[in-house]
Amino acid sequence: MPAQNNQQATDKPKIGLFPGTFDPITNGHLDIIKRGQSLFDRLIVAIGTNPAKRSIFSLDERKTIISELVAEHCGPQVEVDAFEGLTVDYARSVGATAILRGLRNVTDLNFEFQLALTNRAIAEIETVFVMSGEAYGFTSSTLIKQIAAGGEIDRLHPLLPDNVLQRLKQKKEELGGTLPWKHVDHLTGE
Ligand code: ADP
Repeated sequence: MPAQNNQQATDKPKIGLFPGTFDPITNGHLDIIKRGQSLFDRLIVAIGTNPAKRSIFSLDERKTIISELVAEHCGPQVEVDAFEGLTVDYARSVGATAILRGLRNVTDLNFEFQLALTNRAIAEIETVFVMSGEAYGFTSSTLIKQIAAGGEIDRLHPLLPDNVLQRLKQKKEELGGTLPWKHVDHLTGE
């Protein structure tokens, strides 16, 4: 690459995209956002819909919850947005330099490796991985939903930010003690 182009590449602001369902956001996600924010000039936490997961909180509710947390815990370079459709299309629309993803363990790596290679093949976008803090390696939104639906929400205190805990309790109360959690099979959608 000629020297001038190299210079242009380094001058361009580095925009990171942290996509996820965040239903709900956990201390594990927040840990990745905090670690990831120093790698980019701008980091967009992008809330998407995953057809393989049934959600408890609407996109708007998730955006409000995450915006509160980002305002409290992160620098001004972290933004929150919601999107529909493919992550790579959204990434292109905001001019993202790379997608940020969190890794908890080797099981995550299996799937994330496949996703990263596919995104690079179809949209020429790189993925940057950050390892989760030791304390969060076992935290998953799916398990949290299962526990919240069937048990006492306060027990999730070590895994969830306070605003999420309160919203979960409120939601369960509004729905007469239930939560719309259900496991959806990836292949059948049932
Ligand atoms: P998706 O449905 O796209 O996997 P999630 O909201 O489940 O969305 O996860 C978004 C990202 O956060 C993924 O990269 C996932 O691996 C990562 N992640 C989820 N939970 C944790 C955690 N406890 N520690 C670190 N990374 C996590």
